[in-house]
Order: sequence, then structure tokens, then C-alpha cells
Amino acid sequence: MNKIPYGRQNITDEDVQAVVETLKGDWLTQGPKVAEFELAFANYVGSRYAVAVSNGTAALHLCTLALGVGKGGKVITSPITFAASANCVPYADGEVVFADIDPETYLLDIVEVEKLLKAAPKGTYKGIIPVDFAGRAVDLEAYRKLADQYDCWIIEDACHAPGAYFIDSKGAQQNCGNGEFADLAIFSFHPVKHIAAGEGGMITTNDEGLYRKLLNLRTHGIQQDPAKKIDDHGGWYYEMQELGFNYRLTDIQSALGLSQLKRAELGIATRREIAKTYYQELKDAGFIKGQSGIVPGHAYHLYVIETENRKELFNYLRSINIIVQVHYVPVHLMPYYREFGWKEGDFPHAENYYKNCLSLPMFPTLKHEEQAYVLEKINSFYSEELLEVKLFNK
Ligand SMILES: *Cc1c(COP(=O)(O)O)cnc(C)c1O
Repeated sequence: MNKIPYGRQNITDEDVQAVVETLKGDWLTQGPKVAEFELAFANYVGSRYAVAVSNGTAALHLCTLALGVGKGGKVITSPITFAASANCVPYADGEVVFADIDPETYLLDIVEVEKLLKAAPKGTYKGIIPVDFAGRAVDLEAYRKLADQYDCWIIEDACHAPGAYFIDSKGAQQNCGNGEFADLAIFSFHPVKHIAAGEGGMITTNDEGLYRKLLNLRTHGIQQDPAKKIDDHGGWYYEMQELGFNYRLTDIQSALGLSQLKRAELGIATRREIAKTYYQELKDAGFIKGQSGIVPGHAYHLYVIETENRKELFNYLRSINIIVQVHYVPVHLMPYYREFGWKEGDFPHAENYYKNCLSLPMFPTLKHEEQAYVLEKINSFYSEELLEVKLFNK
């Protein structure tokens, strides 16, 4: 059996054709394909505006700058996420405060968030960054209510969840990144995510003011709206009004992203099928904890099982070319964040999850026989003899 990774991009001939056409056109960096990609992406998630940027981390950076954190301003996020969800806070001179996850959903626990907000004077916390971890949508309606009570903004880190949704209190479907409850939402087009563009990111929002600010920040803080220029020296004149960055996406990447976006729904449907098979085959053996059951609206960026023999199973599967992975090492235990006083024992649910979690291969082109092979190997590992050998060898 060839190597089976935990995630993999799928590049079709149509994708290649789209990129080649762009290469032969007039634009390489930001041009008409970026605008087209933004429009198509906004339509896909159901937001009014979308701003394409160079990657998901750049998207987070611009979001904390646009919403404002201020020196020492505190922002709450989950310890079970990629480090970028937290790093965007110190980028904007703020301080990250972690709160534990809900062991059932693996998502930032709103009860813990509320405790933090309640215990501090109003204004201490500037914002909350919930993460649609593994592709499961956060209940942002509940977060909006809480955030409004404490004058906090919300950035939804939806990198795992384009196409995912939750059902709100009125029974309506709320797509991740639709701008209905969060001030801003961000996505990544890293090859391991649902939509691959090589590198790439997107910010979505329904707020026109934030949208305009993001456009300026993406290109050095140069005012993109001619009507908002303070001066005018002639046709060449451009005006930098604040400190921004070069976080532009290229037309080459956008052509690929656009082409991939056309297959996004198909990809999610396949991911849900794969999840169903894992669930049916593994639930009786006790691997399925928390969110890995059948959850409506889940986009299954990752399929996570939990087992007490995680390290042995990880090593075993890797040794036979099944490249499973662990998502994630808790962010608060990273040496950088330990410097701020975070330590083991701070978040029992997150730390317990980390001890046991394992991400199984999950991508739309995973073949039936490959998934069957993965399941067969997990089962044979746990057939007693093998497990004993493995435990003995450790
Ligand atoms: C991938 C990812 C990011 C960062 O995206 P990049 O495009 O790699 O910069 C941020 N948050 C989460 C949850 C991610 O999975």
C-alpha cells in the first residue's frame, strides 16, 4: 500500500488548466482573478464581503489590527487549535488568554469564556476567537450574545470549516463565515485544508467599514478608495494613511482556488461519507468520543479518534505508511506561551484530549480500499497479541 497521509490536496486537469490560462494572461499578482475568487467565496459562505490575502495567518493578523486589541488588551481563544489562532493577538500588541475546551465538542467552552469575562472589569477583554475545530461549526449565536454583553468583538477562525454550518435558535442554517454573528471570519487555502491554493487566505464579513479597512491594510495601508484621499497631486498620486502590509494573494493562486471552490461541496459530501464509515466501524470499539460521531453541518476537515494507546497506535500506523497526525499540541504548552505563565494542569479537558487524540486519514480522494486498510490495521493493532507486543516494545 502506498503512503496514506492524513490529508491531501486534489488537483485536477481543470485546476491545472485554470492556472495555465492565468499564467498566459496579463495579471500574475492581484488582478481580476482575485476579485472573482472573492466574489465566488462570499457567495459560497453567504457573506456580503470577502478579502483575499496571502494566507490564513495574514488573515488573522489583519483581523486583530482592524478590530483593535491595544497594548495589553486581552483576547480569548482555544488551546486546541493551530498556533496561528493565538499568535494574531500578540501581533497586535495584545495578550492571549486561553480557556478550556468542551470535551464533547472539542470546541472552546463558552461556559469557561463567560467565567473569564465575568471575573474581569468590562473592557479588559477586547475579543474572542472561537475556532470551528476539525470542521465543526461553533454556535456563534450564543457567542454573539455573550460578546455583546462585554463589548467584545468576534473573529471566527473557520480555517477547518468552509461549507460547515450550525442550526440557530430559530432553526435556520448558519454557514461558517457568513458574517451573521462574527465580526470577521477567516479561512486558509493551505493544501491540507478543504480548498487548496498553494498558500492563501480569505476574510469574510458583512461590515462595510471593516471591509474597507481590510482592503487598505492588505496593501501597505494605501487608501484604496479615491474619495477618501486627503490630498491629490495628480493621476499618479497614492496615499498611505496607516501602517499596512503586503498581504496580497496572486491571480495564479486565485485561479486555483476558484477552480477548487467549484468542487467544495462535492468534497464535503465525500468527507461526510468517509466520516460515517469511520464512525460505524469504530464506535463499538470505544474510539469515538466527543464530536467524531455524526454531527449535522460538520465539514470533517479532520477525523479525530481518542485512544489511551495513542502513542503506540501512532507509531504503529506510521511504521506501515499510514501517516496519521495529532491535532494539536495544546497552544498554551508551547514554550513561547509558557513564558507567559501557562502550564500543564491549566486546562484538564484540552490536555486530556491531547493525550488521546489521533487524526485518521480524511480527504475526498481517500479510496474505499485505503480506508478499509486503515480500519483493518487499527483493528489488528488492538487484537490483543499485537497490542501486547506494542506495549511491551515501548
Ligand atoms: C491552517 C490554519 C491557520 C493558518 O492558516 P495558514 O494559511 O497556514 O496561515 C489558522 N488557524 C487554523 C485553525 C488553521 O488550521
